[in-house]
Formats: sequence, structure tokens, C-alpha cells
Amino acid sequence: MNAPAADARFHDGTVRHDWTREEVRNLFALPFAELIYRAHSVHRAHFNPRDVQISTLLSIKTGGCPEDCAYCPQSAAYDTGVKAEKLMDVDAVLADAKAAKEAGATRFCMGAAWRSPKDKDLDAVCRMVEGVKALGMESCVTLGMLTAPQAAKLKGAGLDYYNHNLDTSPEYYGEIITTRTYQDRLDTLSHVRGAGIHVCCGGIVGMGERAEDRVGMIHALCTLPAHPESVPINMLVQVVGTPVSKGQAPDALEFVRTIAVARLTMPKSMVRLSAGREDMSDEAQALCFFAGANSIFYGPKLLTTPNPNEHHDHALLDRLGMRPMAV
Ligand code: SF4
Repeated sequence: MNAPAADARFHDGTVRHDWTREEVRNLFALPFAELIYRAHSVHRAHFNPRDVQISTLLSIKTGGCPEDCAYCPQSAAYDTGVKAEKLMDVDAVLADAKAAKEAGATRFCMGAAWRSPKDKDLDAVCRMVEGVKALGMESCVTLGMLTAPQAAKLKGAGLDYYNHNLDTSPEYYGEIITTRTYQDRLDTLSHVRGAGIHVCCGGIVGMGERAEDRVGMIHALCTLPAHPESVPINMLVQVVGTPVSKGQAPDALEFVRTIAVARLTMPKSMVRLSAGREDMSDEAQALCFFAGANSIFYGPKLLTTPNPNEHHDHALLDRLGMRPMAV
């Protein structure tokens, strides 16, 4: 076979943190079939390719966020029709968690539209985390920036995962968010890691970034001191009113490439097919699974944007001979 030989020694599934940007760029540049073949081979070295981890995401505090993330309908800076709501009641959140468990989810993720949590809100979130753990599920929260003591407090409540995405490349970040810096993100990730909480960290494809920005985003993720245990790769959901809603629709094959390079460079991480599945064909999702995605969100909504319904997801997994992963 005349497969491109470039960097073949780096694709054996070994976990590395010293990827160069050029190596990541070379992976993105591989012929499509070669790339997904290599990614699938690495995937099989670490995971059963039939298994998919299923998480449910609930917005526990919606809208009115002071940050200006250009893709986000929850930012108070954009008129998107999303109303600002208060933090949900702990019992209501736990009732949703129980329903998610009964529907087959093994991880319950809770998202709050904050720049960073206030202490009294953090107390309530800790009670939610304790309740989710008592149901026998893994817990994950995304609350914005955290200090080291806040991360320690969440760990004390039993938190398993903290989501905090890098979103895009360091170079493109300032085009997407002006209210915080890339370094702010890295600092929170370091506090979370330092507290002993697993990290969920990924990014978004389709925000008008250049191919080099997708290279930069994956490079930033795979050179973190420890790879995120979960790497959500999102396809932009274009929401009217947000600054990035008018660009060209994201390209599905480029999205699959990004999944494949994430799998090759972070071989033991769960690569999550996240936002944007509603607009993706079943065939594109199947390619993502082949390329190394092994985690999805399910439930009718992802925070405020639509998601495929659970019946469709179960039917798709059945058609593909895949099955939910046990905790
Ligand atoms: S992505 Fe998060 S931090 Fe950014 S505006 Fe939306 S809710 Fe706020």
C-alpha cells in the first residue's frame, strides 16, 4: 500500500504530550481515508469500538451570562431570545438526574451561564453534585472560571468532571471572546486538575476559523500537562443573533477530520461528539464513531440548542451495532 509514511511512528497509540504543531498539521493533511483508518486503529487499541458513553446535560442556570462568547445564545451581549433565569432548585435538578438515569445516562452534566460562581451558588451546586453521586451516576459541572479553593470545594462534594473548553486556537480566541483570555482558561484547567477533578475540555468547529486554527486547537489540547479525560468536539450550532451565526455552515468532513486527529493525539481520552449532532446526518455521525468518537450527549436539548431525540439515538446505535458503555 502506498500510504503516506509521514510520522507513522507517532500513531501507535502511545500517549504523548510533546506533539509539535507541525505533527498535528500533518495529521490533518492526510488523505481522508488514511486519517480515519489510522484513528480507528488507535481507537481499537484502547477502547471497544462498540461502546459509547452516554451523558445528559442540563442547564441549571440559563442565560444572562456576562461573557461575550460569539457562538453562545446565553450571552447577555446578544439578542437571541434566551431569557435569563435563576439557578434551578436542587430538588428539581435531582429529579431530572433521576429521569436521565432511567433513560440510560451514566453521567449527568450540569451547566450554569456564569463568568464564575458566587460562593452561595457554589454551595447549591455542591448539593446537586452530592445528589447525583447518590444516584450512582458520574457528575460533571461547567460553571465558568474557578479559583483553586472553589475547585477543592467541588472535589469535596464528590465532583468527577469539570468542563471548561478552550473553544479554538490561541490565535483565534480573541475573535471569539473578549471578556477573558486563553490564559484564564488554562488557569482554571490547572486549578481543576490540581484539585484532583477529571477534566472535560474541547472546542468548536465551524466558527469561521481557518484550518490552522483547528490545528492550533487540537495542539493546545494534546499538549496540556495531562490530556483531558473527556474531549468534547462541537459542531457550531448557528443561533440567530450570535455573531458567528452568519458564516458558512460547518463542513461535516472537516469535523470528522478533527475528531480523528483528536483521537490520534489523545489516544486514551473519551472523544465526545457534542453539540451540532441535530444538524448532522446519521452517516456523518457513523464516520465520527469510526474516527474515534466514543461519547455523546443525549436528551432533547444541549443547554439551549436542540439535540437529536433519545429514540433516534437509540435506533442509530442499534443500526451501528453499538451500545451504551457502563460506568
Ligand atoms: S459559553 Fe458559557 S461563558 Fe460563554 S457566554 Fe455562554 S454561558 Fe457564558
